[in-house]
Order: sequence, then structure tokens, then C-alpha cells
Amino acid sequence: MKLSHRITHLTGGGSDGWGVFYRARRMISEGIAVVELTIGEHDIPTHPSILAAMNDSAVGGHTGYAMVPGTALLRDTVAARVQTRTGVPTTRDNVLITPGGQAALFAAHAAACNAGDTALYLDPYYATYPGTIRGVGAVAKAVQTHAGDAFQPRASEIDAAAEGAVSLLINSPNNPTGVVYSRETLEGIAEVCKKRDLWLISDEVYDTQVWEGEHISPRALPDMAERTLVVGSMSKSHAMTGSRCGWIVAPAEVTEHLINLATHTTYGVPGFIQDAASFALSAGRELEDEISEPFRRRRALATEILGAQNAVTMIPSQGAMYLMLDVRATGLTGEAFANALLDTHHIAVMPGESFGKAAAGHVRVAMTIDDDAFANALRTLCSFAAVLSDQRENA
Ligand code: PMP
Repeated sequence: MKLSHRITHLTGGGSDGWGVFYRARRMISEGIAVVELTIGEHDIPTHPSILAAMNDSAVGGHTGYAMVPGTALLRDTVAARVQTRTGVPTTRDNVLITPGGQAALFAAHAAACNAGDTALYLDPYYATYPGTIRGVGAVAKAVQTHAGDAFQPRASEIDAAAEGAVSLLINSPNNPTGVVYSRETLEGIAEVCKKRDLWLISDEVYDTQVWEGEHISPRALPDMAERTLVVGSMSKSHAMTGSRCGWIVAPAEVTEHLINLATHTTYGVPGFIQDAASFALSAGRELEDEISEPFRRRRALATEILGAQNAVTMIPSQGAMYLMLDVRATGLTGEAFANALLDTHHIAVMPGESFGKAAAGHVRVAMTIDDDAFANALRTLCSFAAVLSDQRENA
């Protein structure tokens, strides 16, 4: 039987740099103690107070089909949060609750792109981006960013790539680079979107993890609310990755269509999960800060450790739970370095090459293990890079 081109070509095929990750997982299953700095998952479970709210809701009977667009309570809570933080008038009519940010990314592209349309995304990128675009039948086109610019995108290069495109996907705070887009960057992007009549799909799932500067939602920039689809999620802000609860904030007429899409795909999100999310969001910044605090601490530790050596350079990390490290002084690709680090020291990091071309020669470190183990792993990584760099200089 023939499968659709859409499904068989969803991923790009070929080597994508994820070999290190799977090898680390294999080593662990064989009983080898591997320090895993690969995946963006908190080292804490969902907060007990959120679980209690979830339990109360489920035991209280909220286990049937929930309203497809989301419960009125959660839509209102998300709308109020967005309005408070951005100043943009937002009501429940602008909000669709989705099973996680990933489903929101898919729905946003389904809303923006016809089959065969070109959809832009920025390289380096979160692993699912090109596949999500292909999943709606659109053509995924990468625009490179540059390590020398600390991966702040250049509006001129987006503009040059935008001929015939219908959408642009951005992510700030950024996975994998840890970069937070500046106001200047976002204003440049907004101008290109208006000039080229692009939908802007703004993935803001790391909006509570900002260590330097401020998170700016481009929906708040002049005349952008009508063309911006914001993707949000409980996964990172509230350590609720397994709960699968996120949202899209969009113009009301777009939300109408997104609700139709949800009716025919996901049929909504469990009510007890939504009640837990409403509770968690209502707890405000204090709970969000408590959940993001370990990453803030480890990023400060990393800045200290990396500042004391010169074999590895850190891309200025301003947000999210990752560090992007430049290991080019070793003479190795990110992938070769990551493989060697795994073999020699049983430390697993993601090669920059697994996030596209722009981060080649880099590795991404997830700050997702306890402080002492994290600091030790980082020191080992740096001294390993120093040995390799010395060997190269003396060769
Ligand atoms: N966007 C980015 C940039 C991510 O890193 C992730 C998860 N790692 C997601 C979206 C999707 O998250 P979720 O579906 O859990 O909300």
C-alpha cells in the first residue's frame, strides 16, 4: 500500500545529529552511567499544588469531553495573562487551548499555509519545526542566523528569503541557542512581515525563562496583533510537559477556524488538565519563578565556569534552559565532539548540527540536572575541549 508523500517525507531523512542522543540512551539501558544534558525536560516533577488541583478536578467529575476550544475558565485565564503581560487587548475569543505547544505549532501552520506554500523558519531551530511545516503540506524554508550575531536573526536576510512565502516561525527565548530576541530584532522582523504580508508564528513557550533582557511578544508591536499567532504552553513554565496543555493566541476570526480544526483533529484537552493549568496560571509569577529558578542558578554557574577558561565559548545565554557552546577551537564538528565526549566521559550533549546548519561546530547543553552534577559535567566538558584544542595546536 502506498503511503502519502506528506507522511513519508515529514522528516528530512538522512543523518540529523540525533545519533548521539540515541547512543546515550542505549548506553544507559546497558547500565552505563551517562550524564544526560540532552533533552529540555525539568529535573523536577509537576508542582504538588498543581497535581492536587488536577486530582480534585478529576475526582470531582471533570473527566468527560471538555469544550473543544478549551474551558471558559482556562481561555479567560490565558487571555488575562497575555493582556497583562503585553498590553494587547485579549479575550477568550482569541484563545484556543491545545494539547501542548506542539499541537499549537501544527494548528498555526495549518491556519497560515496552503499545500505547497512556502513557510519560513530560522536556523538553528527546534527539532520539530521543518516537520511540522511539511506536516501541513507546506514547503519548509530555513533562513540562517549567525553565531557571530549571537544568533539574533537579520531582518534583511528574512526579507531576502520571503519572496513567495506566507509565514515566518520564530522562537524567543530560543531553543536551542538560549538567545532572547531584542526589541530591535523583533521590530525588524515585524517590518518584514508587514512588507511581505507574512503571518508571524511566534513560539513563546519559554517566556518565563528570561535571565537577561526582557521577553517581548511581537504581537504587541504596532499592527502585528492581526497577523501574529502566538504559541504558548504549560510545559516549560510549569513543569507540565506530560500534561500536554498549550494554546494559540490569534485574531478572533482565526480562532473560529482553529476551533474547527481542533474539532476534527484533537477534540480538545482533558478538563482536569485544563483545571490544573488554570490553577497553575492563577498562582502567578511566584510559582513560575520557583519553577524556573534552577535554570537561572545553573546559568549563573555556567557563566562562572565558562568565564574561567578559553577552550569553549558560550553564546550569550539570556533565556530558556539551554546553553549553546562553540567548540570549534577543538577542530571538531559539534557531532564529533559530542560523540567523543560521550565515549570518553559518558556525558551526553546535543550536537549543534541536530538543530540545523547554523549551529554547526557547537553543542547544546540542557541545564536539566542538579547543580553540582551540572557544574562537574561542564568543567569536564571544558577540560576535554582544552585537551583537544592543545592536541590540535601541537599537531
Ligand atoms: N517549542 C519549543 C521551542 C520547544 O522547545 C518545545 C518543546 N521542547 C515545544 C515548542 C513544544 O512543547 P510542548 O508541546 O510540550 O508544549
